[in-house]
Amino acid sequence: MYIYSLIIDNVSRNCYNRVSVKGGAVVQSLIQITDITLCFFIKNIKTMEVLVMKYSERVLEELKKNNPYQPEFIQAATEVLESLSPVVDTDPRYEKAGLLERLVEPERTIMFRIPWVDDNGEVHVNRGYRVQFNSAIGPYKGGLRLHPSVNLSIIKFLGFEQIFKNSLTGLPIGGAKGGSDFDPKGKSDMEIMRFCQAFMNELYKYVGADEDVPAGDIGTGAREVGYLYGQYKKLTNRSEGVLTGKGLSFGGSLARTEATGYGLVYITEELLKDHGKNIQDARIAVSGSGNVAIYAIEKAEQLGAKVISCSDSSGYIIDENGIDVDAVKQIKEVERKRIKEYLNYHPDATYGEGSVWDNVICDVALPCATQNEINKVEAQRLADSGCYAVCEGANMPTNAEATEVFLDRDILFLPGKASNAGGVATSALEMGQNSIRSSWTFDEVDAKLKGIMINIYYHMKEACEQFDAKDNFVAGANIAGFMKVADAMMAQGIV
Ligand code: NDP
Repeated sequence: MYIYSLIIDNVSRNCYNRVSVKGGAVVQSLIQITDITLCFFIKNIKTMEVLVMKYSERVLEELKKNNPYQPEFIQAATEVLESLSPVVDTDPRYEKAGLLERLVEPERTIMFRIPWVDDNGEVHVNRGYRVQFNSAIGPYKGGLRLHPSVNLSIIKFLGFEQIFKNSLTGLPIGGAKGGSDFDPKGKSDMEIMRFCQAFMNELYKYVGADEDVPAGDIGTGAREVGYLYGQYKKLTNRSEGVLTGKGLSFGGSLARTEATGYGLVYITEELLKDHGKNIQDARIAVSGSGNVAIYAIEKAEQLGAKVISCSDSSGYIIDENGIDVDAVKQIKEVERKRIKEYLNYHPDATYGEGSVWDNVICDVALPCATQNEINKVEAQRLADSGCYAVCEGANMPTNAEATEVFLDRDILFLPGKASNAGGVATSALEMGQNSIRSSWTFDEVDAKLKGIMINIYYHMKEACEQFDAKDNFVAGANIAGFMKVADAMMAQGIV
């Protein structure tokens, strides 16, 4: 028994280590022989396991081994690789070309320090990131997130998702994401400016109108994009469309501010229409009160829906009379205050602390705040209380278990990479306008945006039907986004 436990202990520590046990020679050689036999056995079981795994499963296993401290990235990659299985595991060309291994590894990961000085003359150092994930179909494109939670895992998850989202738009843009763990909350305007300048002092080496075109994201709005652009121009002496989400006076596109929220509502409207429902009859719950949330509320209300909630990281508002979007704009875009201030405008509304998803009752949910904001219990609660559609405005706001609940309960579910693609699509339209040194009217851009969102919906639906996954838009979005990128990667050789 003692010998056996020593062997097991030794084997589990490391199959290939030599045994080192104090005691007689007979015992020692016995352990060695048994150890080698066990090692051989275990090694072969492992080899057999690997051999029976599918290509996509093997790549996922390797990815988990190589990125052990990146849960958000693994979560995103797992969802994508699992849904690509019917495509990549039935066509050996992909494995031969190492396509998935290349797809899950960023082309380039840049990390750097951002030293800046606050209003009191104190020096701070934040960490900056730019993950240039995939340029197969066009220059890298994706936002810059400024939030204390930013780390490499989050930027990689966002950059990876961006590849498929950008491909779904039908426009020629590759996938990237960047940001910093800098917290813009409570900083003065001058501190924001000095931080943005310090960020660009390093970032400018890696971006350019035909190379990599960053944009806004959480914590990076028009003000920050303006400061970043100003510093890029100062450093390079070039006036080019290196960033999108710019101010209208220096190359910005009309309707870019509204695009993600409006696009989300356009695709939701099409989804409902295609399933015999009408957005005008819907009671809609929104989370967040930032850029995406505000313009989703605005467009949904313009189309006649009743939006009854919004939130921030402190709490949520429920207003049964319908959210007053002008009040939210005033609180968030002008005064930059907490959402609780809404009660000063509408004392009849209710404010609660915690997550809106623990409390709201709705037909349609539009989560527009941040990743993993809806968990399994909240998903079950939404399904039990009659919610029939969930369309993601934020990136991955529904965690993996919650997504499963929605799919199992036949709730219409649109993943963010499809439903929030209106922002990046309009960014690509801004790039186009910058290239031809011209600008389009609001209505022209808005009409193009609507057309793109409707195309995304039917493109996804087609992929669902082709791969026998009716109404599984998670699979549909991943497959439809993947096909174009995969074709380009196959055509361009092993690079
Ligand atoms: P904003 O910074 O404008 O707004 C984010 C909102 O979410 C704020 O109301 C914020 O509250 C809230 N929030 C942030 N973290 C949490 C949290 N942990 N719990 C609850 N609420 C939280 O960002 P955007 O509106 O631009 O982006 C929202 C989401 O949409 C992100 O996932 C982003 O990646 C995605 N997205 C954005 C696009 C765009 O064009 N802007 C394009 C595509 C996707 P508080 O103010 O308290 O932090």
